[in-house]
Amino acid sequence: MPELPELEVVKEFLVEHLVGRKIEKVEVLRPIVVRNLTDLDFTSLEGQAFTEVRRRGKFLIFSLDALYLVLNPMLSGRLYFCLSTERRLAKTFVIWHLQDGFDLRYVDQKQMGKIYLTPDLSLVPGFAMQGPEALEVTFETFKERLKRHRGEIKGVLVNQAFVAGIGNAYADEILFRARVYPFKRRPGLTGEEIRRLYEAMGAVLEESITTIRERMGDQIHLKFRDFLAVHGKGDSPCPRCGTPISEVKARGRLTNFCRSCQPGIMIGRSRSLGG
Ligand SMILES: [Zn+2]
Repeated sequence: MPELPELEVVKEFLVEHLVGRKIEKVEVLRPIVVRNLTDLDFTSLEGQAFTEVRRRGKFLIFSLDALYLVLNPMLSGRLYFCLSTERRLAKTFVIWHLQDGFDLRYVDQKQMGKIYLTPDLSLVPGFAMQGPEALEVTFETFKERLKRHRGEIKGVLVNQAFVAGIGNAYADEILFRARVYPFKRRPGLTGEEIRRLYEAMGAVLEESITTIRERMGDQIHLKFRDFLAVHGKGDSPCPRCGTPISEVKARGRLTNFCRSCQPGIMIGRSRSLGG
């Protein structure tokens, strides 16, 4: 799933290449991902120019003359920026044909993402409930907001109402950097662990943005994850201590962590899940 670091770099690319460009034609090839919250036709965007591109949490927001396009790519949604002459991929859902012969395309292998057309961002499901941006929240606010949650710390980090932008992959990276057991319940965290989590969150996200920025270029549909320390690295040696990285499926998520650097005991683990 694209998370804050990937979407931030995609946003930077689109600010540079999309803002000011006019939409010549809109092709909705598969309407299933489109949620039109206006009484206008989706193709009414033809002739309008993109005036701004922003990111909020895991949403990308495209401002047009009087409306917003809001993209929530979920697990599998990808944007392509390419020449109109480029071959279309099988799971292309929407194409915005731009002036100068370029396309912005939305491709989604599992059709889980959503594209909203709306006059008001608060109408977009899950938008208004988001907590502060993970890279903007202060330590005091982070600490204060943490008190509202009593569950396992990984579940808190991926909760967009706590802070916005972190998903499954970067939660694993942050917990590893902070040396905190992912299934530790929030009330059991020490002040020192909370401090380490906050610092790890900023460092991991900032460093990842820098790495992705160096590598992405115009390939905004690619997901760079090979540089991560533990996520997706089950059975590889821990980069810190050499212990094989654990991979646990619990609470409907795959979690990678190092049992030696992040020790702990899972309480109330679902027995139907292996790992
Ligand atoms: Zn380790």
